[in-house]
Amino acid sequence: MNDDLTTGQCLCEAVKFRKSGTFEAFFLCHCSRCRKDTGTAHAANLFSSKATITWLSGTDRIRTFTLPGSRHAKSFCSTCGSALPIALPGADVLVVPAGCLDSPIDLRPTAHICVADRATWDNDLDAIAKMDGLPG
Ligand SMILES: [Zn+2]
Ligand SMILES: [Zn+2]
Repeated sequence: MNDDLTTGQCLCEAVKFRKSGTFEAFFLCHCSRCRKDTGTAHAANLFSSKATITWLSGTDRIRTFTLPGSRHAKSFCSTCGSALPIALPGADVLVVPAGCLDSPIDLRPTAHICVADRATWDNDLDAIAKMDGLPG
């Protein structure tokens, strides 16, 4: 995969970007903050200290929320709410939500993290039924 061809966009397609550089880690975070801001069991974020994002469109739609008193921050499209890449303030690291990328990701998740803080229903999820489409 040519890194310079890695692209992504939000659900309403207003915000588009291209990523240059490689990711160093891919964490699935089960903490309560990530569960709130994704609305699901865990965040799936790619991390890089060197990669950069070039915004191709829609920068006027991008909003960023930083949880007061923490480094927890999230960028999202103000029209559709989709998660977007963010350069974490003060941390010198780029965080890219895996779901906003349209290109294949050639990195396996590194680890589940903050597992002790996971949702009460987040156990043995591999063991439940898997359907290829919507439930009939
Ligand atoms: Zn959008
Ligand atoms: Zn988290």
